[in-house]
Amino acid sequence: MNYLSTRKNGTNNEEKVSFKEAVINGLTKNSGLYFPETIPSLPSSFFENIENLEDNQIAFEVLKPFVKESLNEQQLKQIIKETLNFSIPVVQVENNIFSLELYHGATQAFKDVGARFMSRCLSYFYSKNENNQNVTILVATSGDTGSAVANGFFDVKGINVKILFPKGKVSPYQEFQMTTLGKNIQAIEVEGTFDDCQKLVKEAFNDTELREKITLSSANSINVARLLPQMLYYFLAYKQLKIQDVLGNKKLVVSVPSGNLGNISAGLIAKKIGLPIERFIAAHNANDTFYNYLQTGKYEQKASILTYSNAMDVGNPSNFERIEYLYNKDLEATKKDISAFTVDDISTIKEITNCYEKNNYLLDPHGAVGKLALHQSLKENEIGLFLETAHPQKFSEIIQKAIPNYESEKVDLSNAKKLFIKNSYDELVEIILK
Ligand SMILES: *Cc1c(COP(=O)(O)O)cnc(C)c1O
Repeated sequence: MNYLSTRKNGTNNEEKVSFKEAVINGLTKNSGLYFPETIPSLPSSFFENIENLEDNQIAFEVLKPFVKESLNEQQLKQIIKETLNFSIPVVQVENNIFSLELYHGATQAFKDVGARFMSRCLSYFYSKNENNQNVTILVATSGDTGSAVANGFFDVKGINVKILFPKGKVSPYQEFQMTTLGKNIQAIEVEGTFDDCQKLVKEAFNDTELREKITLSSANSINVARLLPQMLYYFLAYKQLKIQDVLGNKKLVVSVPSGNLGNISAGLIAKKIGLPIERFIAAHNANDTFYNYLQTGKYEQKASILTYSNAMDVGNPSNFERIEYLYNKDLEATKKDISAFTVDDISTIKEITNCYEKNNYLLDPHGAVGKLALHQSLKENEIGLFLETAHPQKFSEIIQKAIPNYESEKVDLSNAKKLFIKNSYDELVEIILK
């Protein structure tokens, strides 16, 4: 499998790289994102028989065509085993609505899967690195990426991690998970928004002078090694829905709480592979850039708005390019597979309260956005699945607004270590080169 850039710059000089190169480079030479050259399909027998396969087997079959030139079967199996090391249950919440709980991993958010997969790919790729140079992973986070990456790479030899997060815009729990590991993990607090952090990271990747001095690699959802394993959620969910025997003749609709659109992009690729998902819902908070695109056909990036579902506070979703690429900029084709909803903070809180009182099911703010979007759109002949992307206890202050007697976990930041920079590229470079 080759990987191409989502940005075309003349047909003759298109960059074409292996999985390994795509993972190491992060971004393409023309600042686009890597995308698989073809999406291989799996035979219908695979889906008919999926409930009889082990999770690891499913993962192996799905991922193999995407990585086989860069990882041998043994390596891929080992990576999968270490990646899928926690349960991902499908839980019925109400009639026809199910929750896919992606938060049972180390940092209690779905990004654990991508982070673990990527860190292990990189450690294979860099163990053969002749000049034995340390690799610097540079990542911007609106909250959950940072903790998942920090945890996924913690104590991995030869890899230094620098995490940029916006000051005052991540939860204490998220900050705790990023700033208390130490060793090869360094947290950098930035005076600015998530988009500022992301811009600083992009600037570093485009800085050829810097990249001559150090080996830089990304770990954001833009990296294909983060993106591709996220397809697995959808396959594993489908398997469980079949085991629970709830699909019948109904069509499956999946609602994805979305920020950078990485998770939903992976779902769309899964659908292309042949997974029987009728349609997707991109569930957004007040950050409505993609929602507006589907309404108007115009993509207009915005400054990010702070909301209760802060891991989705993204005004310029980086994976939009991949969706555009996948659908060849055909708006009508895109709208056939994806609809979008936006949910405001007040409705998010109400949904957490209602769902708890009615169904005795505790949602986190992101899952609440996903469930509400699903609720507004589900038809008679459909079964709905929303992704529960984080554990509610990561957002206990917000849960308490909805459920006042909810017990919050205390966070002890006394051992936290972080650096602080203004929204300044020069300050960042200084830290990176230190
Ligand atoms: C990252 C994240 C999202 C958004 O996922 P994208 O792939 O960026 O669209 C949603 N919920 C939680 C809890 C997250 O951490």
